[in-house]
Amino acid sequence: MSDPAISDPVRQAEKIDDLIIDVLRHRVGKDERAAKPHDWYTASVLALRDKIIDAWMESTRRTYDAGSKRVYYLSLEFLIGRLLRDALNNMQLTGEMEEALRNQGFDLAVLEELEPDAALGNGGLGRLAACFMESLASLDIPAYGYGIRYVNGMFRQRIADGWQVELPETWLSHGNPWEFDRREGAYRIGFGGEVSEDGDGVVWKPGEEIEASAVDTPVVGWRGKRVNTLRLWTAHALDPIQLAAFNAGDHIGALAGEARADSLVRVLYPADSTPAGQELRLRQEFFFSSASIQDIVRRHVQYQGDIRTLPDHAAIQLNDTHPAVAVAELMRLLVDIHGLEFDEAWDITRRTVAYTNHTLLPEALESWPLPLFERLLPRHMQIVYAINSRVLREARKAGMSDQQIAAISLIDENGERRVRMANLAFTGAHSVNGVAALHTDLMKTTVFADLHALYPDRINNKTNGVTPRRWLQQCNPGLTSVIRDAIGDGFLDDTERLADLNALAGDAVLGERIAEAKRSNKLALAQHLRDLTGIRLNPDAMFDVQIKRIHEYKRQLLNLIETVALYDQIRSHPERDWVPRVKIFGGKAASSYHNAKLVIKLANDIARRVNSDPSVSGLLKVVFVPNYNVSLAERIIPAADLSEQISTAGMEASGTGNMKFALNGALTIGTLDGANIEIKDHVGDENIIIFGLTADEVAQRRANGYNPREVIEGSAELQQALSAIASGVFSPDDPSRYTGLINGIYDHDWFMVAADFDSYAAAQRDADVRWSDPAVWREQAIRNIANVGWFSSDRTIGEYASQIWGVR
Ligand SMILES: *Cc1c(COP(=O)(O)O)cnc(C)c1O
Repeated sequence: MSDPAISDPVRQAEKIDDLIIDVLRHRVGKDERAAKPHDWYTASVLALRDKIIDAWMESTRRTYDAGSKRVYYLSLEFLIGRLLRDALNNMQLTGEMEEALRNQGFDLAVLEELEPDAALGNGGLGRLAACFMESLASLDIPAYGYGIRYVNGMFRQRIADGWQVELPETWLSHGNPWEFDRREGAYRIGFGGEVSEDGDGVVWKPGEEIEASAVDTPVVGWRGKRVNTLRLWTAHALDPIQLAAFNAGDHIGALAGEARADSLVRVLYPADSTPAGQELRLRQEFFFSSASIQDIVRRHVQYQGDIRTLPDHAAIQLNDTHPAVAVAELMRLLVDIHGLEFDEAWDITRRTVAYTNHTLLPEALESWPLPLFERLLPRHMQIVYAINSRVLREARKAGMSDQQIAAISLIDENGERRVRMANLAFTGAHSVNGVAALHTDLMKTTVFADLHALYPDRINNKTNGVTPRRWLQQCNPGLTSVIRDAIGDGFLDDTERLADLNALAGDAVLGERIAEAKRSNKLALAQHLRDLTGIRLNPDAMFDVQIKRIHEYKRQLLNLIETVALYDQIRSHPERDWVPRVKIFGGKAASSYHNAKLVIKLANDIARRVNSDPSVSGLLKVVFVPNYNVSLAERIIPAADLSEQISTAGMEASGTGNMKFALNGALTIGTLDGANIEIKDHVGDENIIIFGLTADEVAQRRANGYNPREVIEGSAELQQALSAIASGVFSPDDPSRYTGLINGIYDHDWFMVAADFDSYAAAQRDADVRWSDPAVWREQAIRNIANVGWFSSDRTIGEYASQIWGVR
């Protein structure tokens, strides 16, 4: 692997060679001759970390000296993946590390594979948080990320007989050389108990307290400019062992407190189908929000003295509503602990906090049963009521109707009363942003229509982005090197300079070199997938990829039905010039999401049938890649030709997978949804394959009594594919396995699979036509790479910095 930026070396006082040996002996405790690959991996990380620490301390000192404003990014998920390659690349030590290890007989690429993926996230929202942390450091903005250090994170997915099986992720089983335990950075987190009034104000006496202690991971920016901190909280009992109980013979019970604390930091998204699961989830949210807010307030008071200047020194960004309770916690600290009047506290809170919305799906808008919230957080319940009465009085004064007031209320009064976290976050923030232009528009007209009417200046758009360090330089060194040769190194520091490629879009030599880089990525992926699944892939086929969480709105089912239709067509018309395709799927389904799990089984059932059918061999292969995560994405995306972004219009807030694919030279086949619309605007209509209903049309069809049965009967191809799946062609062992799934399309088809099918199938044949002329495909691929520099998370973070946070 080449080092994309050999120039401008940083802090190389000590050669990494010597450092590694020293670390191996004195910190890992191994002799070179006895050391195993994992010891070398650990030594490499620790040696690199030593170099990072110098930059870290320097960054921190600089921030204190300048009294700079800091950004605090609160997120229940950080899907960071592996760090070694990222940190080496950003410190520009990749070449040096490779050489040092080669001298010891090791290959860096092999050691990198020993690093487990930090799977502290579920999908796009968590990956966004990780890209943002990297861009904050790269743009030299002082920042902390705050989250939870899950011991098991998101589950590991295994496919057994085609079904998803969830196993615990054990990413910490060999320790984590990146992190620093900060046992001194500990806070008490209370739950339950009583609220009373004494002479000086309100006193909350929690019924239970847990200790939150910090574990820090350094986040290095591009060229080592700044190192920020990802601070993840872990939980302990205040009294880890109740000695009296232990000595009295209750050996298990004496440790129950620690087990209870431990349950808070075990897994991301505990199943919330039971009341106990729901309660655990709310406890997790409060646990990490409270610890983070206490830390922020403590730091501010320690260095600035006056709590009233908090908004000048701290910008708190809530990544979705999971940390929304931070609004009430900050109010509590300001009023109960720092003795401010409610009005002043409210003003400080709103000037400090901002909120990012990530979804309009009603089932994903968090709300908590009021009795649960009140029992667990009695003081916060009072504060929520106090905020609500202010907000509703303002609404009344603005002349709003009862219906509007009911929609604005922080308490949902329909049926069982619930606390609406989105309304708490919205009212407690000075900025509420969506993550793509369409999504932001829809926020104003749907979920937040009434709050928007009351606070018309609050909603704004910040279209998502991805870090080009991980998603181009590191995952695709071959393409990076071709681009450097073509346009120089400017794009490494300013991704929008990729636009210089436009002048060369028709250049046959560049097209050839980019195609060679792609082919070699495809060969590497084919090898990897063969090792993983046993399936052999033709690297000259079109690699057609849909990797993302499995969800009905993302419509993996639409892709699978079209795959079945194509399979039918190839067998019926073997004489036609079919474009060979490899259909690659990957993604996890939420453990309680029945239809999503069935879609995984269907993908595997179709794969088994198609891959063993000699009549389509060489023309069609289907692969479901197990355990989709960041490291797999880094292998698959550079090898993709076609990027499937086919959500029901209006339902994907932004998407970021779409950006990564385009940056790596894949063409998008997609709907006018989320950021696809803006990608189309940037790459040009001719260089993207758009199909299907628009968000407006979807809304109209739903409102006007959409009849999917009629649509299906009008499309012979769709009808045939649906009946093949429904009748058990792909599930002879259980012919009715998919009857319910397919009946859902006939009966209501909420996700408009039938309505979009013909248009999607036609778009796929359009992709075939483009592919059949390599010059056309290559030029369009180059136009994609050249024009998606705007989707760098550096641009996104620049906008947050100037328009929301007021930092630089
Ligand atoms: C980018 C990314 C996502 C988000 O993908 P979408 O297609 O935008 O849903 C999810 N998971 C991983 C591992 C990613 O890298």
